[in-house]
Amino acid sequence: MPTLPRLIVATRNPHKSSEIRAMLGDTWEVLDVNDFAQLPVIEETGHTFLENARLKAQGISRLVAGWVLADDSGLEVDALGGGPGVWSSSFGGEEGNHAKNNARLVSAMRGQAVRGARFRCTMVLAKAGIAQADFCGTVEGRITDEPQGEGGFGYDPLFIPDGYQLTFAELGQNIKNRLSHRAQALTQAVGWLAGQAQN
Ligand code: IMP
Repeated sequence: MPTLPRLIVATRNPHKSSEIRAMLGDTWEVLDVNDFAQLPVIEETGHTFLENARLKAQGISRLVAGWVLADDSGLEVDALGGGPGVWSSSFGGEEGNHAKNNARLVSAMRGQAVRGARFRCTMVLAKAGIAQADFCGTVEGRITDEPQGEGGFGYDPLFIPDGYQLTFAELGQNIKNRLSHRAQALTQAVGWLAGQAQN
């Protein structure tokens, strides 16, 4: 059996890499930084998704061989002036604490009539420390009053994508992985990689 091409996702968030693994099926071997001992945490000091994705892709690809894919993503809420945006993962006061992030969003949106929001994802592909290409995906939707559903991660229980009546957490992985900001960016990224392989 031929060996699969390998893609290393520059994340410690297992939800991101498992969504990417599920979307790529058996076409790529998908690893993340948790699969390598002693990789540093790359500080996300940028002010945009693109800056942070570049920092992660370049930083990790200096240390491992092959293609590295970084995903920087977040939720932009119209009533919060586009926030929490790049600060989505620490909105509740503690980095990566999804329960606190969701509690803060519920309270910030209480009584708010304007409920529009979008998830945005920027992906960067890098090799040997150099960013080679970037891709964006967006999914529009609205914020619920209270969390609904158990699936997904992060703000999924509070986000209903346009055209649906259920949150990402209720719709489940198959539907989310067809619609999501991450799915859209990933489709472009793997298309670009396929083009590179033919050159
Ligand atoms: P990052 O690691 O800085 O890109 O943080 C992304 C943060 O945005 C996550 O911690 C979540 O809070 C949020 N986020 C990004 N993508 C999703 C998603 O697909 N569902 C729910 N929340 C997401």
